[in-house]
Amino acid sequence: MSGPLETDYLVVGTGAAGMAFTDALLSHSDATVTLVDRRHAPGGHWIDAYPFVRLHQPSAFYGVSSVPLGRGTVDATGLNAGFHEKASADELRAYYTRVMDQHFLPTGRVRHHPCSDHAIGPDGGHRITSRLTGAVQEVRVRRKWIDTGYLEGRIPATSPPPFEVAEGVRCVAAGEIVRVADRPERYVVIGTGKTALDTCVWLLSQGVPASAIQWVRPREGWWVNRRFYQPEEGLPQFFAGVGLQLKAMAQATSVDDVFARLEADGIFLRVDTTVTPTMSRGAMVSEAELALLRQIGDVVRRGHVRRIERDRIVFDSGSVPTSPRTLHVHCAAVGLARPASRPIFEADRVTLQPLFWGFACFPAALLGVIEATITDTAEKNRLCPPIRYWDEPRDYLSSYLARMAYERASAGHPTVAAWAQGTRLNPLSGLRAHADHPLVVQTREDVKAYGAAAAGNLVKLLR
Ligand SMILES: Cc1cc2nc3c(=O)[nH]c(=O)nc-3n(C[C@H](O)[C@H](O)[C@H](O)COP(=O)(O)OP(=O)(O)OC[C@H]3O[C@@H](n4cnc5c(N)ncnc54)[C@H](O)[C@@H]3O)c2cc1C
Repeated sequence: MSGPLETDYLVVGTGAAGMAFTDALLSHSDATVTLVDRRHAPGGHWIDAYPFVRLHQPSAFYGVSSVPLGRGTVDATGLNAGFHEKASADELRAYYTRVMDQHFLPTGRVRHHPCSDHAIGPDGGHRITSRLTGAVQEVRVRRKWIDTGYLEGRIPATSPPPFEVAEGVRCVAAGEIVRVADRPERYVVIGTGKTALDTCVWLLSQGVPASAIQWVRPREGWWVNRRFYQPEEGLPQFFAGVGLQLKAMAQATSVDDVFARLEADGIFLRVDTTVTPTMSRGAMVSEAELALLRQIGDVVRRGHVRRIERDRIVFDSGSVPTSPRTLHVHCAAVGLARPASRPIFEADRVTLQPLFWGFACFPAALLGVIEATITDTAEKNRLCPPIRYWDEPRDYLSSYLARMAYERASAGHPTVAAWAQGTRLNPLSGLRAHADHPLVVQTREDVKAYGAAAAGNLVKLLR
């Protein structure tokens, strides 16, 4: 073991959250930062993502605050036509490498340890072990270590299917379908989340007929309409969506009623309008993608898959036939982790967790600003009570309520509030440029009329 490495902060994880946090910390302090990740390059799960993945939101709001992502273009063709560009996995990987190599490392305050595992030894000390050489580096952390892995999600590429697969059954993780050589007779896509949705969209876009796809959907999901989440010229409608949500939340008589009203407004969408969704994870779709997905008529709703045998798929309830000429596509990883919350700020540690509903990079960067600019740990935690990742429709509402509480609390911290009003990671920071737009003027009235009532009614609906 070589001599100890000294650093102010040790950031474990160079995914989107660790990178956004570090960028904010570097911009708001003179701290030194050591970054470690078991992956070979910065970008977190994007390094192993399926090849046809894209952000589901515009690139404009993603990444680290100080380095723009994308070129601000609007797609002219395809299923995202008319909407702002969404980065592909390749673009995200190149972006995070550029942020590390051209922005972080040249500060002279950053060290990067890829292909390395972080662990805390029995003596409480931090250790980084190279996966390539086995070399162990002891790290003395002067201020805090940042745990970005507490909520580390699972993706199909790096986690086996949560069901048994018998010998002779063709079953691959989502990303592997691009490499299929022996053309299958039929595809069975297993999963309800964003990966399954992307896989179905991709197969259909490649010309696979809808009749050759069976979609196993243990749950039905609510999806957010991308039309309401566009930057620049789209911001007045973005803000109008906020007003519509507050109105629905103020007037609804149940959680399902909130969603029914927002579906009528076009903000929430579902693939099958005859089934009540039990899932809401906040991923965005375009109406064009939805129209494509609705072509798939063979939908199986029998709960979770327990095992796939050569001639049948066995579920929680019952089974359906299959065959060795069918390709089963595993899109059933759990996704975002939801362990019990723990305080975000502790004397020697920051545990990155969500604070409210919103795009992932904004809260991670916000926590970096708060760490650098507020000294009192109790005050930081008062401002930032963590919430669990949303999964069910009611979680969307409680995380929205948390956002309202955060907005009120942050008004007492002018430096933090000023940063939030200027960063591109906060979509509504650009709204000032549209202050006189009729939708913005009207929505300001709606916010005044329904804001407090929405907060009060949500507390009742969530009891
Ligand atoms: C398919 C998909 C699409 C998505 N699209 C969007 C989107 O459009 N917009 C959005 O806001 N969010 C999106 N998300 C949510 C996504 O989770 C976040 O955007 C973000 O990428 C998560 O970053 P993270 O840093 O929290 O986690 P990760 O990307 O999982 O990074 C955590 C890193 O920590 C490392 N690590 C953990 N523990 C250790 C250890 N002990 N030693 C060494 N390294 C360790 C891991 O190797 C990993 O690289 C998407 C998620 C998925 C799966």
